[in-house]
Amino acid sequence: MIAVSLQEGAIVLDPFSVRMLLGVVTLTLVVLSHVASRRLRSACTDWWRLALILFFAGNFAFLLNGTSFLPWANPPGKALVVAGAFSIWAGARTLRGHKVSGWQATPAPLITFLTSALDDAESSLWSGGLVYLAMTAAGLGMAAAELWFAKSPQSRAIRFLALIAGLTSLYYLGRAMTFVLEGPDGSLFRTFFSYAPSALTHVILLASLSFTINALSNSHLIKRLRERAERDHLTGLLNRGAFMSLAEKELAGPASRQGAALVLADLDHFKAINDEHGHAAGDAALCAFAEACTTSVRSTDLVGRYGGEEFILFLPGATQQRAEAIASEISRRLSAMADPDGLPYPTVSYGVTSTGAQVPDLKFMINVADAALYSAKAQGRDRVVGADSVDPLPTIHRGP
Ligand code: GH3
Ligand code: MG
Ligand code: MG
Repeated sequence: MIAVSLQEGAIVLDPFSVRMLLGVVTLTLVVLSHVASRRLRSACTDWWRLALILFFAGNFAFLLNGTSFLPWANPPGKALVVAGAFSIWAGARTLRGHKVSGWQATPAPLITFLTSALDDAESSLWSGGLVYLAMTAAGLGMAAAELWFAKSPQSRAIRFLALIAGLTSLYYLGRAMTFVLEGPDGSLFRTFFSYAPSALTHVILLASLSFTINALSNSHLIKRLRERAERDHLTGLLNRGAFMSLAEKELAGPASRQGAALVLADLDHFKAINDEHGHAAGDAALCAFAEACTTSVRSTDLVGRYGGEEFILFLPGATQQRAEAIASEISRRLSAMADPDGLPYPTVSYGVTSTGAQVPDLKFMINVADAALYSAKAQGRDRVVGADSVDPLPTIHRGP
């Protein structure tokens, strides 16, 4: 099988060999993208995996060009390639937060199939050729536009794919125009726009698509792993390490100039719940408290599990008074929640501190809040105790 031959001094690609090569490459990409990242599925990568399969099937049908199977293989082949182009568009659209249903991607391939089948499909390789070329150019052009404006953690890979889809769309536009101007037998069309060179553009497009699928799947995986590494498994709150680094970042940022408050919370007589009702009841109480916390604070506040039955909250911009009110609100919500087994949830003690205008230090704030929490326990538990401000010798007083 010879893929390249010299004819009258010009390099001519043997269409069958190029198509075989494209088929093998596409099949490899289909298999790779399924094996490597099938567990990391998203609407976008599902559409793009479908696009790889459609391009593969379309090009497979084109292998039958020149045989007696041409009349029934060629129109579906054209429709499948157009469907592939519109699947790339559909995937790109989901990246921009739009939902795309199957029927939105169906009209273009259907029209392509009908115009090709109703044209001279019996004998002509190019039956319905103009519609096929124009539809492919349209699908890829629309995909390029969607990709260009998509927001994604893999923006470089997406931009690159936008570029490749855009160039392929222009190539198909060039094919369509040359097809109209000189027909499929013209010298310009045969040299630059016939099946063989267009198959090469497919290889570039599909390799870029497969690379982007993998890049997106990897960034999805990294995001999931990071979330797992930052979260406490039981309550879903930030774990201690993640809380500390996020709170430190907040304190170092400009927002901390407006002050911030820190709350340490410790569930009262928690050991007794485990001892009397079992570990599962203790776990349920921890989860209920976590829920009471997250529903009482703003989305910009940080809530973490500091360890065991101790929790920590960082409230940027909150005053001492506001932070103490939030602590009381958390206890009110917890007492209003119903345990599935009818057991009462434990009461909670809090130590609260705030930065005021001073340059704060997180560890120092935690020490001060811890001293206030210790005082809350000593005073009989189930209360909020605040240290007025971060001060080497904080004044501890009973909160509201
Ligand atoms: P205090 O009012 O003084 O805080 O008393 P306490 O019983 O709450 O405090 P103590 O430190 O004596 O007991 C804390 C208990 O929390 C002991 C430990 O077994 C339990 N604990 C820590 N982590 C978990 C957890 O993930 N699930 C459950 N069910 N219990 C936990
Ligand atoms: Mg404790
Ligand atoms: Mg406790």
